[in-house]
Amino acid sequence: MSAMLAESRRAEATAAVESPRGERKRVVIIGGGFAGIAAAHALRHADADVLLIDRRNHHIFQPLLYQVATAVLSPAEIAAPIRQLEAKQRNVTVLLAEVTGIDVASRTIEAASPGAGVRKIGFDYLVVATGMRPSYFGHDEFARYAPGLKSLGDAETIRAKILGAFELAATTEDEGERARQMTFVLVGAGATGVELAGSLADLVKVTLRGNFRRIDPGKASIILLDAGNRVLPTFAEAVSRRVARRLTKLGVKVMTGVKVETVDDQGVVAGGSRIPSATVLWTAGVAASPIPKMLGTKTDRAGRALVDPFLKVVDTPGVFVAGDAASVMQNRHPVPGVAQAAIQEGRYVGRLIASELKGREVKRPFHYFDKGNMAVVAKNYAVLERGWLCTGGFLTWLVWAFVHILSLPQLQNRLRVQRQWLWSYFTGQRSSRLIPESPTI
Ligand SMILES: Cc1cc2nc3c(=O)[nH]c(=O)nc-3n(C[C@H](O)[C@H](O)[C@H](O)COP(=O)(O)OP(=O)(O)OC[C@H]3O[C@@H](n4cnc5c(N)ncnc54)[C@H](O)[C@@H]3O)c2cc1C
Repeated sequence: MSAMLAESRRAEATAAVESPRGERKRVVIIGGGFAGIAAAHALRHADADVLLIDRRNHHIFQPLLYQVATAVLSPAEIAAPIRQLEAKQRNVTVLLAEVTGIDVASRTIEAASPGAGVRKIGFDYLVVATGMRPSYFGHDEFARYAPGLKSLGDAETIRAKILGAFELAATTEDEGERARQMTFVLVGAGATGVELAGSLADLVKVTLRGNFRRIDPGKASIILLDAGNRVLPTFAEAVSRRVARRLTKLGVKVMTGVKVETVDDQGVVAGGSRIPSATVLWTAGVAASPIPKMLGTKTDRAGRALVDPFLKVVDTPGVFVAGDAASVMQNRHPVPGVAQAAIQEGRYVGRLIASELKGREVKRPFHYFDKGNMAVVAKNYAVLERGWLCTGGFLTWLVWAFVHILSLPQLQNRLRVQRQWLWSYFTGQRSSRLIPESPTI
């Protein structure tokens, strides 16, 4: 047994139950994503100790993950250390740990920290903000061949797969294998699939042009598959049609109404036909992490906790769920699983707890203010839908770029992303084209 493991086991055996102590209440927040960070910030003036737990040491700006996967940006440009984000807030302590259990009856959680084993931590208030993970709709065996896009590790794996495929295509003597290496299949034509396909089209046509002698990357085939009957199903139909036309113009083959039956090491079988491909990417469904189920409350089909209009878990005082992990209804429609909703929910829960700590009852339920839905389709083109307003084109793309830069977590991220975007806009080059040493190549 390694010294580190032995130490970890010892720590586990003696793990103390850390209960809230003294007069100050303890608020435990699980998840340092959009909702968790917003909840912690909303508690900045609260007379409470806030413990923010995440299994990663960084917060990720997920809307730009596809740009890491397609070599536009590097991981550090879209992520920020959670400790740094919380450094100025004196009542917040950050803990790097994976929450593995929740016992609402004894008001404790179990958290496993690297090298420190499992600890029980007591709470007065609990905010679950653990987000979602890719769902393979009951076919978890597909995950081995078709990575999803949720973490920086996923984005780097995808980037290595894409760039590695061109290297292998350039060295093989087998025509069939070359075609397979140069075929990219994206399963799921929601916003992530559309954005990834558009950026991939730009990569093969512009960035990689002239980089290979034996192959022409511009002849790569990019196929966007979806079982539904249109791309971007959460947008209006007219927007879907425009986006599908735009993708086709970029050279992406859009195949809707086609169900993926198998994904294996040779490619996919979809709609009864095999598509040989060395790079299949999963941009389809999402499911909640196992954490909401541990609350013992009802969950929806995707595993999100059903909460009341105050984002509280029913019959469990002081326990809240915010962000993608919560199933919230507004005017009989579900609040969408987007960053703005997660931020607003996290902020609402933080403020509600702060009010309760002052002995005030909050009577106003959560209300989601929809600032609009955007998707970008490669360079110079984005679509926006907000209420009756549906628009798309270059100006919308500029608005998209501006909004995303402003929304990045730290000033240094904003400056670096701005610089990279300007560089790539004017030169067509992408600065993050490294293939880490990996078994993919
Ligand atoms: C590729 C991609 C593209 C997207 N594009 C857009 C977009 O363009 N616009 C938009 O509005 N939305 C977009 N979204 C959706 C948006 O990112 C989510 O709605 C938002 O991140 C939800 O925030 P959250 O705080 O609920 O969860 P997350 O941001 O996912 O954060 C959850 C956190 O919980 C932590 N966690 C999970 N389980 C545990 C555990 N057991 N123990 C400890 N920590 C745990 C995770 O490490 C993570 O840091 C995109 C999502 C993805 C994946």
